[in-house]
Amino acid sequence: MRKWFFLILILVSTSTLPAAHAQELYHKSGPLLHTFVEVKAYGDNSTRAIISETFREMARVNNLLNNYDPASEISAINTAAGGQAVHISPETYSALCDAKKYADFSNGVFDFTVGPLIALWGFNREQPGLSGSDPDKTCIAQVLRMVDYRALQMEKKPSGQTARLKRIGMRIDTGAFGKGVTADRAILYLQEKGIQSALVAAGGTISAIGVKPDAQPWQIGIRHPRNESSFLTIIALRDQSVSTSGDYEKFYYKAGKRRTHIIDPRTGMPVSKVQSVTVIAPCGSASDALSTALFVLGPDDGLKIIEKKEGFEALIVTASGEVVYSSGWPQKITTY
Ligand code: ADP
Ligand code: MG
Repeated sequence: MRKWFFLILILVSTSTLPAAHAQELYHKSGPLLHTFVEVKAYGDNSTRAIISETFREMARVNNLLNNYDPASEISAINTAAGGQAVHISPETYSALCDAKKYADFSNGVFDFTVGPLIALWGFNREQPGLSGSDPDKTCIAQVLRMVDYRALQMEKKPSGQTARLKRIGMRIDTGAFGKGVTADRAILYLQEKGIQSALVAAGGTISAIGVKPDAQPWQIGIRHPRNESSFLTIIALRDQSVSTSGDYEKFYYKAGKRRTHIIDPRTGMPVSKVQSVTVIAPCGSASDALSTALFVLGPDDGLKIIEKKEGFEALIVTASGEVVYSSGWPQKITTY
């Protein structure tokens, strides 16, 4: 099982900047959100402090959304499943509204209530079962009854926002979109502080503000799914986000089969149609959620839905290693 790992590597030009720009590159990285987070920003000498504050902002958002933290608002909703509605912050409310939107858009293959399935398959543990057989079909069928994002009731009143999961045992899992939401918050915070050129990487999601001071876009290398030291392609990112979901990120072998941490909520089974999916989108929550959705849908249906969405592009490496991409994908790829 691989954790603490950059799905996508960031390439930053080391060339000297034109004298007209008194902007320097500041940088900070570290563990956060169960992954590795990095912020790079150009600016004056106040930038170092701004980046540190950005990290604090990301930790704050993570404290609201992390379903593995018993003190988070998501855990409060999960604990109260089947009971009372829970008061939540406007930020958690808005993240869940967006997640519902992506779930609707993907016809429910992105379903943030997969928590009970993730637990059944053992992906909530540091070391999921390395041997033995898959869960029983009857067990899967039972657990599937607790997976349905439409059973999340949300209300917005003058007194505040609430959320409630209809059935006992239901659990929200923010694994597929929380890093995107956090990257979006980081980008907004940097912009509020006047930063005009920055990159935020939160695990498999990378978001960019503007271009570098030499007018060159941020360059992002998309990792080869079967060779971690080589790139499939390099893309330019400007005021956009990119996310990759890969079958190499968290997996184990069970009964001789490779089982990946993304589960099809229609069947309750881990998905094996693709090796990796990369989605470019206007913001991180969208690219993160939809990279997971396309992972479930596979190449044909995945590209079909992405073609419908203005400002979105996708690149998929199929299970057999074929590279396919949407019509507006920025770089053509000839080799794998
Ligand atoms: P990563 O977290 O490895 O970058 P993803 O963004 O694709 O990859 O999210 C995978 C995580 O999302 C899983 O570990 C699990 O917590 C959750 N998940 C799994 N299947 C689904 C699904 N069909 N819909 C929504 N979330 C899912
Ligand atoms: Mg995702």
